[in-house]
Amino acid sequence: MSESLVLVLNCGSSSLKFAIIDHTCGAEVLHGQAERLESAEASLTVKSADGKTNIPIANANHSRAISEIVKVVQRVDGLVEKIKAVGHRVVHGGELFHKSMLINDATITQLRECEHLAPLHNPANILGIEAAREVFPDLPHTAVFDTAFHQTMPSKACIYPLPYDLYKDHGIRRYGFHGTSYRYVSQQAAVELGRDESELATVIAHLGNGASVAAVDGGKSQDTSMGMTPNEGVVHGTRCGSIDPSIPEYLVQNLNMSMDEVSDILWKKSGLLGISGLSNDCRSIEEAAAGDHELSQLALEIYSYRLAKEIASLVVPLGRLDALVFTGGIGENSTLIRGEVIRQLGFLGLELDAAANERCIRGQQGRISTESGPAVLVIPTNEELMIAQDAAAFIA
Ligand code: AMP
Repeated sequence: MSESLVLVLNCGSSSLKFAIIDHTCGAEVLHGQAERLESAEASLTVKSADGKTNIPIANANHSRAISEIVKVVQRVDGLVEKIKAVGHRVVHGGELFHKSMLINDATITQLRECEHLAPLHNPANILGIEAAREVFPDLPHTAVFDTAFHQTMPSKACIYPLPYDLYKDHGIRRYGFHGTSYRYVSQQAAVELGRDESELATVIAHLGNGASVAAVDGGKSQDTSMGMTPNEGVVHGTRCGSIDPSIPEYLVQNLNMSMDEVSDILWKKSGLLGISGLSNDCRSIEEAAAGDHELSQLALEIYSYRLAKEIASLVVPLGRLDALVFTGGIGENSTLIRGEVIRQLGFLGLELDAAANERCIRGQQGRISTESGPAVLVIPTNEELMIAQDAAAFIA
């Protein structure tokens, strides 16, 4: 194990995921999460090679949760001393951040300027940064942005056909997300294909509970399906993805809904959950569909169809396709969705290798297409390793 480790933090409003990573090889020494922060049920779960521990931390806030993590770390001989940097996942970097940044007081001010773009995520990210800076005042802290990778998108891809002043005066444009995952997967795709990343044209589908697709040319994002928020684009677990933009107005005017109710529908009650009426979890939907649950079958059909359409449209900015890559919980595990999408994209020359498709699950990386046509790859993502590597770059 390397003598310098990185603490990676991913803070949500009431949760905090952490990992202590050897940035030279990606090995995780410890990882876990604090959940239900600021409630009586708050708890911290820590996993290591020795097993899993659950520690009640009633009413703990982010700061106390980080202190509790440090206490756990201190019980492992010499581990705290090996932590040489902290990497923070930050959801939205607006147009201010094109790459990962060392955090100082000026950076925090700039981060606050992006808060309105991700009101559910960025305030929690900043809370985590401030708490961690208190606990580790002498370590370099680095912010790694989900949006930064997509700052290479040309104007034609990122400007909405709305009045231009809305972009200029209010920053209303497409930003894209999952950038840290795309950066990792694009590099790994080149390794898997034995080619140089700079010469590759790939479409990458990151399919988790939130899902997006990106067109990557020579390691640079050309376009992506998520927009100003992580709702645009393909079908998600509970979010609707792209719909007729006038539907919210219709719901307000004709069904007497408030904007809060509409927002609740678009973000929390749509997607796989909304169509199936059962679950946002792809595994549960696949099981129900196999048992003849018709709305689950429809949910999978809509999911695969819209995904295949999005992938095909993202070949346009590339003008060619060397590889289609699947990642994220669904992309790494759902042989059914992958098979269905590849079948619908047969006109691009994609051809499924059924045995390889069955093999590439649960963390197994590999090619799932035949040798003819563009490659189709499954690459398990590793956002934590990217964050750790970016943070390690600032170790003095
Ligand atoms: P993530 O947000 O990347 O953790 O992905 C979560 C999604 O991956 C959920 O919808 C899970 O149901 C889905 N998933 C995980 N394993 C499988 C599997 N074996 N088959 C289908 N979907 C899966």
